[in-house]
Amino acid sequence: GVADVVVLGAGPAGLVLANLLLARGIDCVVLERADRDSLRARARAGFLAANTVRILERHGLADGLLRRGHTHSTCEFRTEDGRFRLDYSTLGQGEPHTVYPQQDLVADLLTYYQAAGGRIRFGTEATAVLDADGDDPSVSVRTAEGRPGRWRARYVAGCDGRHGAGRRSLPGHAVRRFHRDHRVTWLGLLAEAPPSLDAVGYAVHERGFAGHMARTSEITRYYVQCERGTPADAWSQERIWDELDLRMRAKEYGPLRRGRIVQRTVVDLESDVLEPLRHGALFLAGDAASLISPSAAKGANLAVLEAELLARALIDDLTRGDSIGVESYSARCLDHIWRAQEFSHWMVELLHGASGGDGDAHFLNSMRRSRMASLRTSRSQQDWFAERYVGV
Ligand code: FAD
Repeated sequence: GVADVVVLGAGPAGLVLANLLLARGIDCVVLERADRDSLRARARAGFLAANTVRILERHGLADGLLRRGHTHSTCEFRTEDGRFRLDYSTLGQGEPHTVYPQQDLVADLLTYYQAAGGRIRFGTEATAVLDADGDDPSVSVRTAEGRPGRWRARYVAGCDGRHGAGRRSLPGHAVRRFHRDHRVTWLGLLAEAPPSLDAVGYAVHERGFAGHMARTSEITRYYVQCERGTPADAWSQERIWDELDLRMRAKEYGPLRRGRIVQRTVVDLESDVLEPLRHGALFLAGDAASLISPSAAKGANLAVLEAELLARALIDDLTRGDSIGVESYSARCLDHIWRAQEFSHWMVELLHGASGGDGDAHFLNSMRRSRMASLRTSRSQQDWFAERYVGV
């Protein structure tokens, strides 16, 4: 096949990009490895920043989330020093989150795209981007049945996540990867249970971190820190709930509403950034450009922001021959990415104690408690937190 822009991956980044390109009449195609049904069933993120909602609204892509999402504006911290709440919509820029499951957003974006006549090939895995800095860029693909194929393109958008072909095709001499392993592992859970508190709950405990995040009235996300290498099915449901009770201090602050655990994912908290985000005709966006630890729920928001920047750049270039946007895309995205990384890193350190009884662990834990105490007591610290927590 041939297209002006070949978009790899139908996640939030790829589908926002494809919708914006299509709306301006750019000839594009999306290649997605998964089939349609599994794409729409993949539960991941849920907290959308105000700016993300504004971007989607601006382009007429927000009907579903405005109708079915709900705003969320409080987080509650529970630690050895007690608990406190921050209503972040009254702090900082005064903005709330919109809670809307990522799979619903993806399903909406897909519906918009296909209703507008957009081309998408499911069950089509990109295997490599070829000749990205040459005269004849293309993408080699393999279908679910194992048939090989090729798409020729003027531009290729690698929106195919951290293990995708976009990243893999970058030559080592042209792009550097900066990686940070936070040495923390979370077991991510979806429980068939209504939320237990009307806030995001962050619990810091000597047994490890536990988190509570609303999704819908029937489904709640929990995180429980576990040792690196723990298999997803290692803990029984009862053990999971008992651990959550202990760490969230249910005895003091009220019971958790238990339910069947319907999904488990092990998440090693890692971050990385590629520099630059462009090599010739190949551009990266979303998790392909930078992986960010889920501690501050930034990943999907960055993906949408980058997709809009990339769409503008490609539209300017393809419709008017104006290449300023494509030239500056990488630097502009990296500004946002590093700021989000810095805040996520701050959150990782806020939420996790160091284990072991030695002096080093005591030093780190004392710093963490002091950081939490500043957040509890200082209005300016709370404003800063709110601005960074909801902003991208
Ligand atoms: P993806 O959503 O990963 O989409 C990439 C697509 O490319 C996929 O559909 C994949 O099937 C496809 N693909 C992969 N390889 C190929 C290939 N070779 N060829 C063709 N297609 C391919 N972020 C938040 O902002 N808020 C949160 O609350 C939040 N919670 C999270 C919780 C968990 C448990 C996890 C794992 C992540 C969370 N994130 C959160 C991060 C967020 O989900 C990601 O950052 C987001 O999905 C990135 O979007 P993307 O479009 O870049 O990539």
